[in-house]
Amino acid sequence: MKILVATEKPFAAAAVDGIKDIAADKGHNVAVLERYTDKSQLLEAVADADALIVRSDKVTAEVIGAAKKLKIVVRAGAGYDNLDLAACSARGIVAMNTPGQNSNAVAELAIAMIIYMSRNRFTPGTGCEISGKRIGIQAYGNVGRLVARKAQALGMSVMAFDPFVAEEKMKEDNVCPAPSLEKMYEACDFISLHIPATPETIGSIGYDLLSKMPKGGCLLNTARKEVINEPELIKALEERSDLKYVTDIAATCQAELDEKFGKRVFATPKKMGAETAEANINAGLAAAYQIAEFFETGCTRFQLNK
Ligand code: NAD
Repeated sequence: MKILVATEKPFAAAAVDGIKDIAADKGHNVAVLERYTDKSQLLEAVADADALIVRSDKVTAEVIGAAKKLKIVVRAGAGYDNLDLAACSARGIVAMNTPGQNSNAVAELAIAMIIYMSRNRFTPGTGCEISGKRIGIQAYGNVGRLVARKAQALGMSVMAFDPFVAEEKMKEDNVCPAPSLEKMYEACDFISLHIPATPETIGSIGYDLLSKMPKGGCLLNTARKEVINEPELIKALEERSDLKYVTDIAATCQAELDEKFGKRVFATPKKMGAETAEANINAGLAAAYQIAEFFETGCTRFQLNK
């Protein structure tokens, strides 16, 4: 079988080597398309691929249409809003992600953001300590759980909101289940977003929630920019000169945010939550193992389009 690794933003070299080793071990070939600059390159490369590994690359209906032999596509990472699942299903192509493989990297970045914003973005002036502060975790999945554990280790008290996770599970972790999303925003100095971008969550974080935060409240976003209602974020920041916003995914209106709110807002120059050597390698290797297992045994654990 031919496995195409198509990454506009390449994996670490060690990840590509590992993918090739895993594939070779099972008798598969690997082709690598990195740093492509035009969609036509992807359409051409995918034409004879049986399996496809991508990172944030968009696997659209057009790509699926060009991939006549494709049987499986794996997004090496957690969020999979770059895959057209309906187009995959229509062709009987299995789509997977590699959950959990980059969670620690993202959680560490979230903690770094909390400290950075609490210390005036490392500029002179009196900051505040995070020990004793309250953090609300919005979505208690792989990343959210790790942020909770790390925040507890730093002396923070943790609340979480996730309608799909049992309260008992949170309590076992010494995390307080939020009575409602609104109450969590009211109660917490920091809110850390870990929701996927879905029709339900897109544009769902706006003025009503943000204006409930206590004095000095800070919203952290390592999830997706689409979950923020940007006009309402601006309104909340305009009304409350104490609120802060820090994100790993620059807002569409980031230039306006920077200009209007200065040090109260910060966006990483490029999405970097999963950009660690460890996460990069873990996600790449997991994708290769999942493909090898799929071809060997038909295993569809982690299939997204069931
Ligand atoms: P995950 O699938 O392990 O967890 C997602 C959680 O969201 C689940 O527990 C689910 O129950 C919960 N959820 C779904 N809808 C919800 C809702 N409406 N309200 C509250 N909770 C809801 O995913 P993860 O690995 O924890 O990643 C979370 C998100 O972080 C991803 O979807 C992705 O968008 C983002 N992410 C960003 C980076 C980055 O580089 N910044 C890297 C990895 C993941």
